[in-house]
Amino acid sequence: MSAQVYLLEEAEGFSKDLLGGKGFGLVAMRKAGLPVPPAFVITTEACRRYLRTGEVPGLWEEVRAKMAALEGLTGKRFGLGEGNNPPLLVSVRSGAPVSMPGMMDTILNLGLSLQGVAALSRATGNPRFAWDSFRRLLAMYGEVVLGERAEVFEGMLSALKERKGARSDADLTAEDLEELAHAYLAHLEARGTPFPMDPWAQLEGAVLAVFRSWNNPRARVYRRIYGIPEDLGTAVVVQAMVFGNLGEDSGTGVGFTRNPATGEKGLYGEYLRNAQGEDVVAGIRTPEPLDRLKDYAPELYGELLRVAERLEGHFRDMQDFEFTVEKGRLFLLQTRSGKRTAQAAVRIAVEMAEEGLITREEAILRVEANALPGLLRPAVDRERAPRPLLKGLPASPGAAFGHAAFSNEGVERLSAQGLPAILVRPETTPEDITGMYLAKGILTARGGLTSHAAVVARGLGVPAVVGAEALRVFPEEGRAVAEGVEVREGDLLTLDGSTGEVYLGAVPLVEAAGEAYLHKLLAWAEPYRRLGVRANADTPEDARRARELGAEGIGLCRTEHMFFHEERLPWVRRLILAATPEEEDEALQALFRFQKEDFKGILKAMDGLPVTVRLLDPPLHEFLPPLEELRQKAEAGDEEARRLLERAEALREVNPMLGFRGVRLLLLRPGIFRMQLKALLEAAKELKEEGLNPRPEVMVPLVADPKEVERAKALAEELFREYGPIPFGTMVETPRAALLAAEIAPLVDFFSFGTNDLTQMAFGLSRDDAGKFLPRYVEEGLLPFDPTERLDEKGVGRLLRLAVEEGRRANPALKLGLCGEHGGEAGSVRFVADLLDYTSASPFRVLTARLAAAQAGLSSLQPV
Ligand code: ADP
Ligand code: MG
Ligand code: MG
Repeated sequence: MSAQVYLLEEAEGFSKDLLGGKGFGLVAMRKAGLPVPPAFVITTEACRRYLRTGEVPGLWEEVRAKMAALEGLTGKRFGLGEGNNPPLLVSVRSGAPVSMPGMMDTILNLGLSLQGVAALSRATGNPRFAWDSFRRLLAMYGEVVLGERAEVFEGMLSALKERKGARSDADLTAEDLEELAHAYLAHLEARGTPFPMDPWAQLEGAVLAVFRSWNNPRARVYRRIYGIPEDLGTAVVVQAMVFGNLGEDSGTGVGFTRNPATGEKGLYGEYLRNAQGEDVVAGIRTPEPLDRLKDYAPELYGELLRVAERLEGHFRDMQDFEFTVEKGRLFLLQTRSGKRTAQAAVRIAVEMAEEGLITREEAILRVEANALPGLLRPAVDRERAPRPLLKGLPASPGAAFGHAAFSNEGVERLSAQGLPAILVRPETTPEDITGMYLAKGILTARGGLTSHAAVVARGLGVPAVVGAEALRVFPEEGRAVAEGVEVREGDLLTLDGSTGEVYLGAVPLVEAAGEAYLHKLLAWAEPYRRLGVRANADTPEDARRARELGAEGIGLCRTEHMFFHEERLPWVRRLILAATPEEEDEALQALFRFQKEDFKGILKAMDGLPVTVRLLDPPLHEFLPPLEELRQKAEAGDEEARRLLERAEALREVNPMLGFRGVRLLLLRPGIFRMQLKALLEAAKELKEEGLNPRPEVMVPLVADPKEVERAKALAEELFREYGPIPFGTMVETPRAALLAAEIAPLVDFFSFGTNDLTQMAFGLSRDDAGKFLPRYVEEGLLPFDPTERLDEKGVGRLLRLAVEEGRRANPALKLGLCGEHGGEAGSVRFVADLLDYTSASPFRVLTARLAAAQAGLSSLQPV
């Protein structure tokens, strides 16, 4: 049988999978010449064997041999003092290959016994320290190995403090701590789980407890959520103790080699004098910033600076490290790549490349593209913010404050006075578009990250928090209640759509920072990008913003958003109500004028770049007021409302998503089709006369059959004869259209994959209802991720791939794009990077799409 236990010096070059993250880091630090207390690592292989068979043959012999080596390295005997020599004590630490909270806690001071306490006390001349170390061991071991609840030990400690009139642990004397240790021992004895005085028995118990903790419920849940394989197992590090609690020249701390919030280079961290390991995290005393060391321990500070540099040189990344100082001597206990904000990630990647620590290509690959949108928006200044009132889902990044409004009218009233508004709704529907458009922020009580509110807010670039479950909204009463606090119309609220937090009042914001680094990174990335990036934009303003962010055109311009504008709705409603061709014509004429102006604005903003306009997609009844409202008005004698109600009832659908909409509506109400296309062609013509270079394209939604495309194309060609042709395409968003791609492709210039609908129809689920079960599906491991957020490669991706291949074969000139929500999600963009010509994302996700596309290009250059 191969060896299962290695000293740090024997494990150089071994993998993280075998040594666990902690062991791996310790081996590397020792090798880099950094001061690390001697230690050995029991491999993950031993753990796996134990979990499989319940035993590990030969393990304890190996452990004894390595412990003998530690004794040699430290000059101390395990658990036993000799003469004036203190005993060797160890920590037993778990360490999986990937960082994984929820497993066994570390046990410190292991090996100590009543006999060892006496020796430790004699050797250090510090009985208080000795008893303090022992009572800590008893409580940790009692909890982690013997299974007693931590509160029991804490309770006994509190009771003792009260009896002695001690305010903090520090007020307890050696005798007090001795008394406590005996009380713990007696308690453990009485519950039938006596503390083993034999150091070797302690060690065995602790190691096996670490092994078993791999299967803790907490650890299992964590693995499921983060998709960590079940069969990795954990390593165990057994390490000689060093003591940070030996006086004022001792202590323990954590450091970051760069600021994890901003990315700024420089040592950053916290230090607690005269303390042991867990004290820093336990928050018993407040640690001081590392900077303070400059004043009273400049040498130590200088040493930490050198350590930081070595760590970065070795690991080539920002490190988060743990250290302890024993009587002025520094020891490193852990290092790992540090977690960081998106802003810091960008700055660190760029600066490390500039310092020559990593290559530019590595810098490009290191940044999580999905995190970029948050970088361009203000955020809540967390240092000055009060406690949040609520937490919901971070649906659209950026922070905003404003006065609460519960309806479109409320938002309009505030905006008319020049006041910022936050639209608060139970959930949103297409009717709320005016309010959403004018609001500075959107808050809903219900809905997930792909709910109407979330999707529209991201499209509009308005910060939004959705699904704040603790919120009850009563729009008719103009109030909402959260955690017992009432929010009335006009009350100030602040929300942060990057974190999901909502605050009462106006909370200070910090401006977006670090743009210079981001632009540098993107400039490096650009040459690796093959996939085109366009934007989904419905207004000139969005188009301009998208262009500034590097969009190379518009891949999806949704005309219905223009229909919802307030001055247009009456005309849309007349169109729906029209009883005669003349009435219909009059309404279409009016809408034509609006649409032409809209198109001119957008084409102008994207001058020289392609703009794909999708003809009307939603069912007509979406433009009517809610039935209930109409019914009330009709009953009150409103004639117009009565007619609308009649129409609304006639148009009502059980499942509008699959109803009379898209190409179906356009073909059977061709007046709408002609009006929209003519408005687009006329807009382009007028701009051309002004000397501009408009590049419109038109596409029809929801096609399922080539006949539909043929008919639509014939309609379009009537107008093309008059104005000249423009690229004509179809959305591919029904599974049938994907399956019949070979027949459809020869009829069109381009396909645009509408992956929102394609996903809904491929899965047979509706986004509006999926909030009830999709999150649980992901939690329960039934789906690896939410397919409405990230493209499902297996199923939807297969449809897409099929349509691409067969479509191209049937029409080699076919252009291919994607315009669903997935178009701005990094994983999905990487998936389509080699398949399509372009992706189209909401303006704020254009940067994500650009970076992700470049990352895809780069990884295909570098075979892994
Ligand atoms: P975690 O996985 O929670 O980070 P660790 O194994 O790093 O747990 O242990 C927590 C803390 O215990 C460390 O940060 C360190 O301060 C302390 N510690 C662990 N081993 C030793 C040791 N050999 N000597 C002194 N302190 C130690
Ligand atoms: Mg640690
Ligand atoms: Mg669609």
